[in-house]
Amino acid sequence: MTVTIHFHGASGTVTGSCYRVVHPAGQFLVDCGLFQGNRTVRDLNLKPLPFDAARIDFLLLTHAHIDHAGLLPKLTRNGYRKPIWSTPPTAGLLEYLLPDAAGIQESEAERENRKRGRKDDAPAEPLYTMEDASKALDLRQTTDYEVWIEPAPGVRARYWNAGHILGSASIEVEVLDGDNKPVRILFSGDIGPDEKVFYNNPDAPAGFDYILCESTYGGRERDDYTLDERRDALKLEINEALRRGGNLVIPAFAVERSQELLHDIGLLIKEGAISPSAVFLDSPLASKVTAVYKKYAAMFDDTELSADELFSDPRFRIIEAVEESKAINQIRGGAIIMSASGMADAGRIKHHLRNNLPRANATVLFVGYQSPGTLGQIILSGAKTVRIHSEEVPVRARIRSMGNYSAHADHTELMHWISKRLPAHGAIFLTHGEDEERTALRQALLNTGIAGDQVILPLLDDAVELRAGGVQAVVPPATRRLDLNQINADWHNAYSSFIIDLSNRLQSAANDEDRLALMAGLKQKLGVPPVIPVPTPITPVAASGTVIHGEPGGE
Ligand SMILES: [Zn+2]
Ligand SMILES: [Zn+2]
Repeated sequence: MTVTIHFHGASGTVTGSCYRVVHPAGQFLVDCGLFQGNRTVRDLNLKPLPFDAARIDFLLLTHAHIDHAGLLPKLTRNGYRKPIWSTPPTAGLLEYLLPDAAGIQESEAERENRKRGRKDDAPAEPLYTMEDASKALDLRQTTDYEVWIEPAPGVRARYWNAGHILGSASIEVEVLDGDNKPVRILFSGDIGPDEKVFYNNPDAPAGFDYILCESTYGGRERDDYTLDERRDALKLEINEALRRGGNLVIPAFAVERSQELLHDIGLLIKEGAISPSAVFLDSPLASKVTAVYKKYAAMFDDTELSADELFSDPRFRIIEAVEESKAINQIRGGAIIMSASGMADAGRIKHHLRNNLPRANATVLFVGYQSPGTLGQIILSGAKTVRIHSEEVPVRARIRSMGNYSAHADHTELMHWISKRLPAHGAIFLTHGEDEERTALRQALLNTGIAGDQVILPLLDDAVELRAGGVQAVVPPATRRLDLNQINADWHNAYSSFIIDLSNRLQSAANDEDRLALMAGLKQKLGVPPVIPVPTPITPVAASGTVIHGEPGGE
């Protein structure tokens, strides 16, 4: 019997990372992530798992991000009761991230049921519950970097620092085939950039039969920067914001980004380079996650603060309680307010934006990618008003963004990481990236002389037979939940960007008359009766006394 790998996620998409390896002595998973993104992709979370969860022997988890770990409670809901291996910091982060994810699933189901209740439909089940999450937490087993573990007969594995977020790993795996020969596989997980506070550069050995590599930024380059240069840029942003007298509001992800910012802000305060009156991190999840970072601070690299100083400046207020969060509303200037979510589409950040966006002396600084349709992206695109908690909020604050806080390796860094892991006797599989990104990375690899059949872009649920020493064979997949065309043809993203364009166009129109005319024209194109009242334009009287007749709207 041979060794077969099944690509059950992050194949043609960035999210839903999940690989299943079937070998003569059993089968195991690497990652089990939530699908995020457009509706077609998200609907994959609701479909039955393409394997029997109760028959999986163990799971190796690369890191705690929800697109890698977010379906662990769905596994336990489907009968999985075996070990979930990770590094100790990853296990520490899961403690808070899984219940948080379960809370979101439960409240989404409640919301859906309130809707259905009005229509007498059958109630919706949550994707998973707090109880499923706590079952997953009970299954955690930890390993340190660079030591071999033997999670089941016929398989051994070793974790390597991936420099992406706290506890993140690339995982080296050896699986015995039917002839007792080891098939050597490297799972990259998500790979961090070279310049990264807290962690050493990503590491792993060289020489495998198969390498699976992420390709999130497979075709993109970031501006090169050093940690000092980045901190300098942050200093300029903060000082300009404080000089204007208002608050500086920063939407930030609860994991990693919040802690990186706290580190850099703490260091700038220590050096006397900035002087905010207070620095708030207002997010219950970010607060708990920061405590996990603090616990593992002794293993950090590239920090210029001691473990004691880290996240501990007297001006820092790390907030969980709702009353303390509300008290921030009274502060009209001089403070830095960080809060989740990073794309401003959920969480307490929405309150802080509602309070500060109307203030001309306030600044909102975005430090991460804002995906289309999110509140963050709408603000960043220059909208003059936005809707927050069903209220129209005028945007008078200064809107800024910095692109150099990233947890992902860019094109050159991925190429460098792969080049240091070679040779791959069988093939390199490129996963965890939009098709455009991984196609660009593939082309770059071919340009270095690697043969075309050695760089494979697997599709969702593809299966490939792996052999010791290389030469794999594609086998027909047992299930195929979705093909690439369906992923790309989803119209929801195009729809949200259309709505943004339309709203911007309407807002930038000269006057209401133009706006009504534009809408009437669109309605006509759609063949919809013009229910929007098109008032007879006010007939201006020209200086000469001649009456000028306005054109009817949209004609
Ligand atoms: Zn990640
Ligand atoms: Zn990821």
